[in-house]
Amino acid sequence: MKNIYFLGECMVELRAMSESKLHQSFAGDVYNSAVYLKRCYPDVGTSLVTALGQDSLSKQMLTRFKSEELNTQFVFAHDDKVPGMYYIETDDTGERSFTYWRSDSAAKKVVDFLNADIVEQLSSGDMFFFSGISLAVIEESARDKFWKTIEQLKNAGVKIVFDPNYRARLWKDTDETKAQYHLAFSLADITLPGVEDLTTLYDIHSVEAVIDYLKPYKIQEIIVKNGPESVITKEGETLLSHTIIPVTHVVDTTSAGDAFNGVYLGARLSGRTTTDAVQLAAKAAGTVIQQPGAIIPKDIFQLAMTEAGI
Ligand code: ADP
Repeated sequence: MKNIYFLGECMVELRAMSESKLHQSFAGDVYNSAVYLKRCYPDVGTSLVTALGQDSLSKQMLTRFKSEELNTQFVFAHDDKVPGMYYIETDDTGERSFTYWRSDSAAKKVVDFLNADIVEQLSSGDMFFFSGISLAVIEESARDKFWKTIEQLKNAGVKIVFDPNYRARLWKDTDETKAQYHLAFSLADITLPGVEDLTTLYDIHSVEAVIDYLKPYKIQEIIVKNGPESVITKEGETLLSHTIIPVTHVVDTTSAGDAFNGVYLGARLSGRTTTDAVQLAAKAAGTVIQQPGAIIPKDIFQLAMTEAGI
């Protein structure tokens, strides 16, 4: 069985339904990717590496992870922290705004739980994924240990996968982000950047410029996303452009990139070519954006993916 690990934060999501009604669910970039991967590829062992608390929302979250068939062996329980939370409001024009409570969340402590025994267990895996959001969440004091762990996993033959997923508000300044991203690109075997993520940081505006920017790094597989525009892949020296069929009825683009990442990596772990993996990943992302919320109903998603030939 192939195994992939997703390190990061899953949060409590609160969505305003009316003035006095909130809908509560769970979401977070790495969690979203893990869910969509597992829904398409049940034979791929899919684990979350994160920290929750001992509270009832943490317990509900853990139950949700299990109901999505995710491995929770590396979901740690912090003694006194609780999960991060965010609130989504949609105004009269359909514009969404987000308020976060995540600056002291349990997930910020995840690296503290990565002892030698855990790292050895992770070393037998096939892929280890983290994002720019994961990097921003990890405490500054834990960064050295985090990068040493990533090096250890890479040396053990685990493929390191990085999606820059840039969120300015999570960083002190762009110098800090760039220093962390440099380390990530230096160790990554696979990267899945979106053009937009790199625009503010490096003044990059096209898929070609992303490929150029990443040339000095030794990354075996680069997949550049650009919304409804074509996806470009570079595997070794082979550069390919993949056509995306734009979705006309876009409801909510939350987690488009996350769904893409999960299904792409699941497909690759299941032996698909980059071209097949991009088509399946694009189908998944295109389906997710036609429904509200980060995690769409399982039946709608699976029907679309069965039609796509999963
Ligand atoms: P991110 O969520 O990381 O910003 P993108 O917006 O680049 O990611 O979108 C990720 C993927 O979602 C794209 O590569 C594409 O496959 C799909 N996608 C996004 N917007 C559309 C759209 N309007 N129509 C069809 N597919 C889309």
